[in-house]
Amino acid sequence: MTIKFKEPAPIVDELNPLESMMERFDEAATRLGLDESTYNALKSPEKAVIVSIPVTMDDGKVQVFQGYRVVHSSKLGPSKGGIRYSMGVNLDEVKALAAWMTWKCAVVGIPYGGGKGGITCDPRTMSEGELERLTRGFTLAMRDVFGPEKDIPAPDMGTNPQTMAWIMDEYSKLTGVSSPAVVTGKPLVLGGSLGRVEATGRGVMVSARSAMAKLKMNPANCTCAVQGFGNVGSISAKLLEMQGVSIVAISDVSGAYFNKQGIDIEEAIKYTAKNKSLEGYKGGKKISNEKLLELDVDILVPAALEDQITEENAGRIKAKLIVEGANGPTASNADKILEENNIMVVPDILANAGGVSVSYFEWVQNRLGYFWTEERVNRRADRIMKLAFDNVYKASKKYKCSMRTAAYIVAIDKVADTSKLRGIF
Ligand code: NAD
Repeated sequence: MTIKFKEPAPIVDELNPLESMMERFDEAATRLGLDESTYNALKSPEKAVIVSIPVTMDDGKVQVFQGYRVVHSSKLGPSKGGIRYSMGVNLDEVKALAAWMTWKCAVVGIPYGGGKGGITCDPRTMSEGELERLTRGFTLAMRDVFGPEKDIPAPDMGTNPQTMAWIMDEYSKLTGVSSPAVVTGKPLVLGGSLGRVEATGRGVMVSARSAMAKLKMNPANCTCAVQGFGNVGSISAKLLEMQGVSIVAISDVSGAYFNKQGIDIEEAIKYTAKNKSLEGYKGGKKISNEKLLELDVDILVPAALEDQITEENAGRIKAKLIVEGANGPTASNADKILEENNIMVVPDILANAGGVSVSYFEWVQNRLGYFWTEERVNRRADRIMKLAFDNVYKASKKYKCSMRTAAYIVAIDKVADTSKLRGIF
């Protein structure tokens, strides 16, 4: 069996998406009037564990890898967050990503705190056997951190359902108890949830629909450009098209493709399934990825990489609505420009939270030992996304701020309240 891993994101020097996130945290905390003690408590992670994992490589030599797991907060429930295998993994990055998960779970109101983990390695150069030994070693080292009621990993960059299957198996062996709920994003036969693959794109579509309603935009009269045509981008595009929106541009690492009459998304999905990318796609005129962001469309869905919208290009964006499928696609230095130009941005911690919501459902189903139909999963996930959007929208009116600041306000307020009720000081 060959395992396909996602390309690690390129390292961007000038703009750090994690710093962008912390700037937004600061702005929301200030508007909320958060007291200094709570502010300091929420900024610091509860736990950061570093482990060394010796792995016998295929050539018989032992290589030692560094692994990390950070629990930023467990105030709202067990910590939840992915495990990343990439050469770029370091403690600071994992700490910031763990905090990001705390806000994301809080904004959609699921009973989880935030965590994140990672191993500094290049999964593309490792064999399947080496990856399995590395993952089992990491699970052994983290056996006191992980747990269905403590800390629940999921796939992230460089990891996939197979990685989760190894963690679940190793953890179950170590505890002597079958524990599917220790991880989410598992293969279906091991207790994964129906609807998980489509969940993030579906949440993007539901957020876009809610925003269109507020902006009085009729989907049937709207055009949309989608950057990135992987899991999130292609499914967002397909579901928005089903709502009547005309998707006039799509893109991937090979470039962007524009068709004024609308791209046939089903056909483009079939094309990428066959050809591995949109390279050579004839359903639209080839344009640059930069141009896609600046097209004269109603809706823009960045669903590829971080830092795509910056102070440099924000002023040229013509869309009235941006729905962030990717994590951190807008640098904090672009926020003000978009706000001044009256562009509504549904921020990442809200717009792409459909994925973690269905991960929560996976965990619920595992604990119940009873599996839901896809229809039930979708209905409940849609409800979570709609409610979260409305809460953030109301906060944006109350605090007279952008949807992004409002999302952070909702999240920080919830975690701060819970911390006070639980009595942390
Ligand atoms: P993916 O690997 O399936 O797809 C990424 C897509 O982006 C690919 O089509 C790739 O070709 C394209 N791409 C790469 N560089 C590009 C460039 N310069 N210009 C245009 N396109 C480019 O990844 P995904 O799971 O769809 O994740 C996309 C984003 O969404 C990431 O930021 C991820 O963190 C975020 N996200 C994903 C999920 C999920 O459930 N998959 C959940 C929350 C957030």
